[in-house]
Amino acid sequence: MFLTDKFGRRINDLRISITDRCNYRCVYCRSGTGGPQFPEMPIADYLRMARVFVGLGITKVRLTGGEPLLRRGLAEMVRELGGLRTVEGQPLDIAITTNGHLLAEMAQPLADAGLTRVTVSMDAVDAGEFARITRVPNGYERVLAGIRAAQEAGLSPVKINCVLMRGFNDDQITAFGRFAREEGVAVRFIEFMPLEEDRVWSPEIVVTLDEIVRRMAEFMPLREIDHARSETARRYVFDDGVGEIGIIAPVSHPFCGHCSRIRVTSDGKIRTCLFSVREHDLAGLMGQGASDEDMVGFIVHAVEHKEERHHIGEPGFVPASRTMVHIGG
Ligand code: SAM
Repeated sequence: MFLTDKFGRRINDLRISITDRCNYRCVYCRSGTGGPQFPEMPIADYLRMARVFVGLGITKVRLTGGEPLLRRGLAEMVRELGGLRTVEGQPLDIAITTNGHLLAEMAQPLADAGLTRVTVSMDAVDAGEFARITRVPNGYERVLAGIRAAQEAGLSPVKINCVLMRGFNDDQITAFGRFAREEGVAVRFIEFMPLEEDRVWSPEIVVTLDEIVRRMAEFMPLREIDHARSETARRYVFDDGVGEIGIIAPVSHPFCGHCSRIRVTSDGKIRTCLFSVREHDLAGLMGQGASDEDMVGFIVHAVEHKEERHHIGEPGFVPASRTMVHIGG
């Protein structure tokens, strides 16, 4: 059985937040002034959920947060996920999104445990600017060391997520172009979405796909290459074929029609869209002694009600019921 919503989209990409704690306070994400902290479930409960989802056709599992590397037992969790097989009998694609602060120490153990890929968030390639955005001193060198450790551990190509905000870090576009080529990483710019705690989002602050492509050309022109329909990032290479840039453009070029994702929050609620205003309490169901079959029915029902699309920038836009740090990006 495959999970399919009422718009015919097949859902095969599960994102599990394993904590909503974070050691960074990025300006576009977390204020760090004591927003609600949701409870974490035991790792065994996330694994049970993952097993049931995989039985429904999930092929990719991404662990996120909060900051997932803060969670004890992460490597063991990756190892357990590595033992699961998709309904087609293939190993799962297991990825982590991290701010990279603890990655230098953890890259090798995670690779040994069976991690397939890692995405590191990095919003400036300049130490001072990095500190201004993350609101944490001395992170830049650590994250750079983490990226290099991940490459050495065989987790290549490492992907870098960069959220651009006009007036904060949009001066970094061409520097990131250089960085992608020199470090051998795939840099992916993400358009800023209204999911932050500080409520600073406005359409004017978003640096759009078209603008990024135009401004990168001042360094070197980009050439678009093919990408899978369900992939969030439009993919580009530089004119001379060296270095990859991705652009995730949910605001200016929404891709909801090809969405294949479903999320579980750290406290075990299913979210069928980043911008959901309603959640499905899978942890609550498990707490009542639900069988795997009960969980299957619950998940199928939730997916049937997946939102058609988000409404960013439209009149009457209703903010998501949680901010990004408490959802899991
Ligand atoms: N702590 C980890 C990290 O920093 O990658 C994982 C969690 S973080 C919420 C996941 C991703 O969401 C990061 O790449 C981050 O840049 C992105 N993100 C957070 N807030 C965002 C926003 N308002 N708009 C777009 N992307 C956002």
